[in-house]
Amino acid sequence: MAIDATQPYDDSNIFAAILRGEIPNKTVYEDEFALAFHDINPQAPLHILVIPKGAYVSWDDFSARADAEEIAGFVRAIGHVARTHDLVAPGYRLLANIGANGGQEVPHLHVHLFGGKRMGPMLMQR
Ligand code: 5GP
Repeated sequence: MAIDATQPYDDSNIFAAILRGEIPNKTVYEDEFALAFHDINPQAPLHILVIPKGAYVSWDDFSARADAEEIAGFVRAIGHVARTHDLVAPGYRLLANIGANGGQEVPHLHVHLFGGKRMGPMLMQR
């Protein structure tokens, strides 16, 4: 079910549990700002989620409250994951769902990284 992106951060969400090491994940990259791991239900040959280590509900929350170092660290982590998976030359897609209309289901900011095939003009359904 899609979340309300204006809600306060609640650390009972599944990605907070992954960050605490309570739930296993297939990590592909980790640094002080971000964790990247394979999506449990991949929508492309390569489907990685990149999440900030800080407690942010959504892209909206992150863009409003994160400091410059966190923002730079998170953005650089996403780029690093794409480069180390050889995605730059063939191309790839980033996606962040925000709130109900965006279809966000997990209330901890995550950027989807899709690669390994032609994504088509858009993912959205009419
Ligand atoms: P959203 O719809 O919120 O943008 O995307 C949430 C994503 O998290 C979905 O693609 C879903 O497959 C993924 N996901 C949900 N629970 C887990 C989990 O426990 N582990 C992993 N690796 N991915 C999850």
